[in-house]
Amino acid sequence: ATPTALLVGTGRGAQLGILIRGPEVLEASRGIDAVVLDKTGTVTAGTMGLTAVHSAHDELGERELLRLAGALESGSEHPIARAVTAAAADALGTRIGALPAVEDFANHEGRGVTGLVESRAVAVGRRAFLAERQVGVPEDVEAMLADVESRGRTAVLVAVDGAFAGVLILADAVKDHSAAAVAELRALGLAPTLLTGDNAGTARRVAEEVGVDDVVAEALPEDKVSAVAALQRQGRTVAMVGDGVNDAAALAQADLGMAMGTGTDVAIDAADITLMRGDLRSVADAVRLSRRTLSTIR
Ligand code: ADP
Ligand code: MG
Repeated sequence: ATPTALLVGTGRGAQLGILIRGPEVLEASRGIDAVVLDKTGTVTAGTMGLTAVHSAHDELGERELLRLAGALESGSEHPIARAVTAAAADALGTRIGALPAVEDFANHEGRGVTGLVESRAVAVGRRAFLAERQVGVPEDVEAMLADVESRGRTAVLVAVDGAFAGVLILADAVKDHSAAAVAELRALGLAPTLLTGDNAGTARRVAEEVGVDDVVAEALPEDKVSAVAALQRQGRTVAMVGDGVNDAAALAQADLGMAMGTGTDVAIDAADITLMRGDLRSVADAVRLSRRTLSTIR
């Protein structure tokens, strides 16, 4: 491989909005035959919107529940958190900065958030996160969650003072070009997998929408690493595409890590390539670029 050809390839990448960390990355891209796609912010826009609030609390109505959850989530940068905080401020006709203060805030990456709001212990997160705190979900709520998730929506649960208090439902649209991008990846001989911390129902629905069959859902950040490693053990050379803090370790584990330019700094730092356009078709562009560059070399 001549250094000049690799440099030319790297420069061509920059023109396409594909920032390659160093010329050696193009060589590392050789032989990629599997691509693991994070869902939220990678396949989907990652700009969630709150579509409904259900309170199951005796005294707190939807508005109060949203107020507590919104205040708590103001400490997190997660797309879910941003949506909840913005919706709370909106519903209360206030600025985000005017939401109640939070004490003892803790962000549990890929799981949820906890803290004290107006002396109430509030937790917002996935089912398992509440279960870990001995908070169970009533059966009628389970039925509603299944329905919501089958429609590709994300539901997060709220607990107040250790008791189940309600559900927040969020919608996140699949990006316009994601389905076309998956088709391009297949045409290049790359087997796609959707990998997400979100629940299985939502993941499956999104996977169907973009044409991916293999789905790994409810993955914690460490499970994302294991999912990539499992493919590698099967002899695959794996590219991983992600955007979140929760994707960073998996991006580093992959043979080729690609971060969305719209993503977090932690993901970008862990990746070999940054896709400035935030468009999944850039993944196929990057693979083609690498193949073309290497074929002119040999
Ligand atoms: P993804 O893999 O889709 O990017 P994450 O790993 O970031 O998802 O999150 C996985 C799940 O953890 C979310 O679907 C949600 O249920 C829960 N979660 C993570 N962060 C938060 C938060 N700040 N507020 C509420 N729920 C959260
Ligand atoms: Mg993500």
